[in-house]
Amino acid sequence: MKIKAAIVPSQGEPFQIAEVELEEPRVDEILVRMVGTGVCHSDIVFRDVFPASTSSVLGHEGAGIVEQVGKDVTSVKPGDHVVLSFNYCCHCNNCLKGRPYYCDKFMLMNYLGKRVDGSATLSMDGTSLHGSFHGQSSFATYALASEKNTVKVPDDVPLEILGPLGCGIQTGAGTVMNALKAPAGSTMAVFGMGTVGLSAVMAAKVVGCSTIIAVDINPERLKLAQVFGATHVLDSREVNPAIEIQGITGYGSDYAIEAAGNPGAYRQAVEGLNPTGTCILLGLSPLGTEVTFDMNLFVTGRTTKGILEGESIPHLFIPTMINMYKKGIFPFDKLMKFYPLEEINKAVEDSARGISIKPVIRF
Ligand SMILES: [Zn+2]
Ligand SMILES: [Zn+2]
Repeated sequence: MKIKAAIVPSQGEPFQIAEVELEEPRVDEILVRMVGTGVCHSDIVFRDVFPASTSSVLGHEGAGIVEQVGKDVTSVKPGDHVVLSFNYCCHCNNCLKGRPYYCDKFMLMNYLGKRVDGSATLSMDGTSLHGSFHGQSSFATYALASEKNTVKVPDDVPLEILGPLGCGIQTGAGTVMNALKAPAGSTMAVFGMGTVGLSAVMAAKVVGCSTIIAVDINPERLKLAQVFGATHVLDSREVNPAIEIQGITGYGSDYAIEAAGNPGAYRQAVEGLNPTGTCILLGLSPLGTEVTFDMNLFVTGRTTKGILEGESIPHLFIPTMINMYKKGIFPFDKLMKFYPLEEINKAVEDSARGISIKPVIRF
């Protein structure tokens, strides 16, 4: 079928709107009519650094309505509201251990631009496009997904706001709730107040962290962090956050989250921990970025590691986040600004300039 998509003609170029051809769903595939798709930082990283051999269709925070399903699909039917998330194989060691976010085939199934059998879902003028991005390529009016990355959601919540639950928001909130399992009363510092960091702040409030310290260099975003539950805000251009965190908590924070992708922030996040605290790295940085720490910081039991997707299982965690939203305790829609597909380049620009925290393409 003919659909409209925002294509990246070649590496680093702005998006262009084009008519492209999407294959009919195979027996195990789901055709989804897009309603809203979030623009995530990793879309832009891939646009700018990924040397695809053909034009590509990105987009991996899609939400829409099931239009058609293959004959083997049983978990959703036409008319269902769905959110699309990352793809995984179900068969590797990590998938079998219930950790699909570390699927051995994560790269193959989310970034290589084709189905696993090597066939392309999208083409233009007879030439295959780099598609199947995160098993969806949702910067388009329609997307093909599978049961593994298609999560049915209730239809009494506006669908246009739900797409970012499939990546950025589950990454921030999942880090607090699934990976760290931060208990009530614990102390949390979050560096970088974009979608991921602010979602972590919201989740830290939900679980009852007693002290939530937000760190950024943008005063507007720090104000927003307070609205979402930060008990303290630090402008890292004006103070050394590590020293301030040690002072505020009296001992160092139990947890820190680096969501800025900045080596200086990462180091400060670790230095602000208490002697047995844990720092999680979420921020993406250019390949080759290095960070240094004093080795002695780690001999007392401090821990740091990087994780993916907030260690969230989308079929479990997306409905959980929607329930929290309905209760009014997880107001993630306040992060969003909406754009038509034709204005996707403006959405990206606004995000880079800090005007829009979570741009969402509304179809
Ligand atoms: Zn797997
Ligand atoms: Zn993402």
